[in-house]
Amino acid sequence: MKNPPTDTSDKQDSIEVQLLEAVTRAQSQFVITSDTNAVFDGMLTALLSLTDSEYGFIGEVFHEDDGSPYLKTHAITNIAWDDETRALYEENAEQGLEFRNMQSLFGSVMTSAAAVIANSPSTDPRRAGIPEGHPPLDAFLGLPFFHRDKMIGMVGIANREGGYNKELIDSLRPFLTTCTNLILSVRSRLDQAAVEKSLRESEARGRAILDNAEDAIITIDHTGTIESCNRAAGKIFGYGHNELVSMNVRDLMPAEHSERHDSYIQSHMRTGRGRIIGVGRELIAKRRDGSEFPIELTVNELKLEGKRLYVGMLRDITERKANEEQRSKLTTELTVRLNEVNRLNEENAMLSDLGSYLQACATKPEAYDVLLAHARVLFPNESGALYILTDTEGSDCVISWGDEQDLLSHPIQKHDCWALRRGVVHESSDSKASLRCRHYNGIGAGSQYCIPVMTQNGPIGLLTLHVPVDEAQEKREVDAERTLSLMNGIADRLGPTLSGIELRNQLHEDSIRDPLTKLYNRRFLDETLHRELLRARRSDQPVSVIMLDIDKFKQVNDEHGHDTGDQVLVELADQLTRSVRDEDIVYRFGGEEFVIVLPAAGLDAARERALAVSRDARRVRVETATKPIKITISAGVATFPEHGETNEKLLVQADKALYLAKQSGRDRIELASVLEAS
Ligand code: GH3
Ligand code: MG
Ligand code: MG
Repeated sequence: MKNPPTDTSDKQDSIEVQLLEAVTRAQSQFVITSDTNAVFDGMLTALLSLTDSEYGFIGEVFHEDDGSPYLKTHAITNIAWDDETRALYEENAEQGLEFRNMQSLFGSVMTSAAAVIANSPSTDPRRAGIPEGHPPLDAFLGLPFFHRDKMIGMVGIANREGGYNKELIDSLRPFLTTCTNLILSVRSRLDQAAVEKSLRESEARGRAILDNAEDAIITIDHTGTIESCNRAAGKIFGYGHNELVSMNVRDLMPAEHSERHDSYIQSHMRTGRGRIIGVGRELIAKRRDGSEFPIELTVNELKLEGKRLYVGMLRDITERKANEEQRSKLTTELTVRLNEVNRLNEENAMLSDLGSYLQACATKPEAYDVLLAHARVLFPNESGALYILTDTEGSDCVISWGDEQDLLSHPIQKHDCWALRRGVVHESSDSKASLRCRHYNGIGAGSQYCIPVMTQNGPIGLLTLHVPVDEAQEKREVDAERTLSLMNGIADRLGPTLSGIELRNQLHEDSIRDPLTKLYNRRFLDETLHRELLRARRSDQPVSVIMLDIDKFKQVNDEHGHDTGDQVLVELADQLTRSVRDEDIVYRFGGEEFVIVLPAAGLDAARERALAVSRDARRVRVETATKPIKITISAGVATFPEHGETNEKLLVQADKALYLAKQSGRDRIELASVLEAS
């Protein structure tokens, strides 16, 4: 280990004096140039020269985000020894090199915040070792400098001939103080510059925001006098940029508002409360030309240098209002349409339900029942009726419902109904000057509808509805439309249903009736007799049949012609129908043969009936040019169950008896024999 150098005090003095000179020079240079790097460089050069050191640095302590310290140089001797270190120096010396290894000689200054003298670094435990190519390190002195007990930087110098000692450290104290001051100056200069910059920026930003804002921003005092405003304010109210200043805010409102405004301000000044402060209030404002427009206003209170100010931010919401109105109009329209669609859907569902029931109806009474059931649901508060046209000029009520049911259930004459007379829907109402059909005479106040029920062949009926008065007139108009549309829907479905039933009835009738005599035919006899026998078997009752045939009818045809023969057949058919009981049915079996079925009649009763029928048949007279035609009949009688238990057997037995009657001389009755039948 080297001995510490023993400097003379002369030399010591001169270091101090020279340092002081260097320091003074540095400080004045700093004031003039504010080039900190140059100042620190000058300081380092003086330090190295005065301490006979080879190289060194002056650095400032910074901290990472996690609090760990690192050193950043303000001046450092260029000791680069290869390309890499040269490049590093070139690039970073200007803004400062950063050192972070605390396990080193300079690091132990940083961590201990105390002076470090290492006059034999190669064996010093605090060293970190030096990289290859680094100039040799023979002696090291590290000195921290402080601001209010906090280490803010350090100087490090190396390779003083003979090493470093405590006296030298003492003599460097003013130098260190200068370093502290310089660093603080740099910091405060930086801070101030930053503050000024941010102030300038924020002011410019503020102004730009104010001037570019679309909202008007107006500051008023407690009397309502405008103190300042932005460009938008002038534009919105139709004034030049600064014209608004010194005007009173009252001039920007319609008269009735400005009076209220004054009292708001006064009350607010007095009580500190009131409606003046608020967000997003909608008001009416007045332009320079007197035109009024809607605004949205937000007012804030501001105390500036003891003065109470109000800052109003407002925007012209004419367009928004118009949009809102438009939107609400559209919404209303949409709702109306949606309701209409819903109503139609509902109506369609109800009508299609009615339609499917009607289609399933086999008879008119069934169809009337279905209609009545639906009408009571669809029109629970109304009264109505269905009329079916008769052959004459009238129509009969087939169903009616509601409070006015009794009045509606009377038949109506065509000339009493405008719908029947004109063949189109007729509507009448107390509120409209319209003709009311006479068939409504005596009905309560309200509206009436008459809808013709049509088929391909013209009208077959009339649907009517009476809607009693409703207090809500408006509702009535909507309902009238619905009512009419529903009624039309019902009539549209009813017409085809009724004509379909009519057609089916007709076809069936045609298929079971004899066109000449209008009696049921043999086909229908098979059907009904079979049913009759089943019923008789169930109730343990007899059934009899009479089969009868006109005697010598061929002669009638031959003598008087076929048409006259037909006439005789028609007359006899009528006579037979008259001669039997209501429950007995006469059939034309074929040609001039007839069958009478007598439910619940035993053989004796049937025989009596056959005799009566035979007697009555003599009364048939058909006039001819020469003399009236008279006829007689022969008949055979058979009874269920004794003569047969089926259609065929029973009819065969009756036919056999008839044959017997013919054989026995005609104009007589024969009974089937049990013997024959078995
Ligand atoms: P009877 O029964 O007494 O033995 O003598 P009949 O002359 O009635 O005998 P028959 O049963 O053989 O003749 C039936 C005649 O009835 C034959 C036919 O010309 C006539 N006839 C059958 N159907 C009709 C009809 O629809 N109109 C007319 N005008 N004559 C008919
Ligand atoms: Mg015959
Ligand atoms: Mg005959």
